[in-house]
Parts: sequence; structure tokens; C-alpha cells
Amino acid sequence: RPRMQRKPDWIRVKAPVSQGYNETRKLMRELNLHTVCEEAACPNIGECWTKKHATVMILGDTCTRACRFCNIKTGMPMPVDPLEPEHTAAAAAAMGLEHIVITSVDRDDLPDRGAGQFVKVINALRRETPNTTIEILTPDFKGRMKQSIEEICEAGPDVFNHNLETVPRLYPTIRPGARYYASLRLLEEVKAHNPLIFTKSGIMLGLGEARLEVHQVMDDMRSADIDFITMGQYLQPTPKHAKVEEFVTPKQFAAYGAIARAKGFLQVAASPLTRSSYHAGDDFAQMRAA
Ligand code: SF4
Ligand code: SF4
Repeated sequence: RPRMQRKPDWIRVKAPVSQGYNETRKLMRELNLHTVCEEAACPNIGECWTKKHATVMILGDTCTRACRFCNIKTGMPMPVDPLEPEHTAAAAAAMGLEHIVITSVDRDDLPDRGAGQFVKVINALRRETPNTTIEILTPDFKGRMKQSIEEICEAGPDVFNHNLETVPRLYPTIRPGARYYASLRLLEEVKAHNPLIFTKSGIMLGLGEARLEVHQVMDDMRSADIDFITMGQYLQPTPKHAKVEEFVTPKQFAAYGAIARAKGFLQVAASPLTRSSYHAGDDFAQMRAA
């Protein structure tokens, strides 16, 4: 019996081979950087890397948490690499990025939860590639949320993204160690601190959530003044991870997208292969043009 469900044909994943892919891979290795594209086995890697769009994962490749949907290695992380901010900026410059997404593992082991490294990376990017817009996708900085948010907002990213990941009912099994309302409050804090920063959040679908629960999450996000939303199909990275309960059809994704737009989000991305950072730069270019 197969241990992982067959994927429907709307989940088509192209093999990640292209010149752009190989160049990006080489660059990241040389600079000792990690990308969530590789670590999370993202299905869009072929397309994104060909277009020279990548999401850099700072603070190492080992996470102090173990979410049931996530393919990132967990355990005791290595010390923070002091060269990471410069290297990230060097990668952005070498790739000629207009928009960069910076994310990280959770570092519950660090006194500042990793906030200081986000600040350093933002500062290095502003210095070395002043025309690159910066999107950060952060952990929840549990135990030091308010101070971390303040420090990072001072550094001034263009987009502050933090994913709710799933509906609140599924947190204990899917996202243990995190709190739904704490994540919402984090994004509310960002807006309160600097209303000029766009806030963004996303959820994965197919984990057993009901439609009304998804609508409720959208309402909660709008109540927290969240500007952009992403919704994509959850895919089980290995048989050890949470099972896919449902493959949500492209039609149902389109329906969720229409509802999200009606609820007033400025940017809506809803499709099976939507990921938090998928086409992030395109969205932002549209926002700037508007
Ligand atoms: Fe990387 Fe995001 Fe593209 Fe996936 S969608 S390959 S994580 S940039
Ligand atoms: Fe993955 Fe983030 Fe959960 Fe760590 S906290 S296991 S990186 S989803």
C-alpha cells in the first residue's frame, strides 16, 4: 500500500533543472546560505530559481521546533553565522533581485529569538542593494515578541509576513508550540508600530479544515489589519509528516480567493501551488505601481 497519497494532476511539479537553478544553487553554497526553497522541498523551485527568485533562510538550517507539516531539520542549532548578513546582501546583489524574501527557522534557544539577525540582514541589504524591496517571513519570537517586533520594525522591511499556517482548531496537532492568537497579535503589533509596513499572512489548505473555519481565519486576519493573504495546498513532505486530508480543487481555491478579495485584502494569492513567497515580488511590484 502506498504510504503517501497520489497527487492530483493539478499539482504538477517540474524537475528543478535549468541553468538558473544550477547558478543559484552554486551561489548559495559558496556564500554558505540556506534557502527554504531547498530545505522545505518547495514544488516551485524549478520555476522560481529559473526566474532568480529565492527565499533565503537565515539563522541556520536547524529549527528548535518540530511542526507537523514542515520538512526543516529540528534539533540543537549551530551558533549564528556572523557573516550571514553580508552574504545575504551579496547573494541579492549577485542575483540582481528586485525583491527578496528572508525567512528563518525558530530560534527559541537564542535570548533575542533571532530578531537581531533579521535587523542585521535588513541593514546589510539596505546598504548593499538599496533598490531591493525586502520581505521578511518571521517566526513568532515566543517570549520576546513585542521587543523583537519593535527592533525589526525600526529596521523597516517593506513587507512583514508571518504565517498562521492553519485554522486554530488544528494548532495542537499541526503547529504545537505556537498560539494562533499570539501570531495574529504579532501582525497587529507590526501595524501599530509602523502602518507603512505591509503585513502578510498565509494558511495551508488540505489539513482537514472546514470552509467556515477558513472564512473565520480571513475575518481574524482582516481584524488584525493584515494586508496580503496567501493560501496554498499542503503537501506531505515525507510519510512521517501530517497526512493530506484533502486535495482542494483549483475551483475551490478560486472561490476562497474571491471571498478574500471581497473581505478587503490588498493582495490575494490562492491556488494549489501558492506558497508564502511564491511570486511575492510580482505582488509587490503591482502594489508599488498602484
Ligand atoms: Fe522558494 Fe518560495 Fe519559490 Fe518555493 S515559492 S521555490 S520557497 S521562492
Ligand atoms: Fe518549520 Fe517554522 Fe515549524 Fe520550525 S517553526 S518546524 S521552521 S514551520
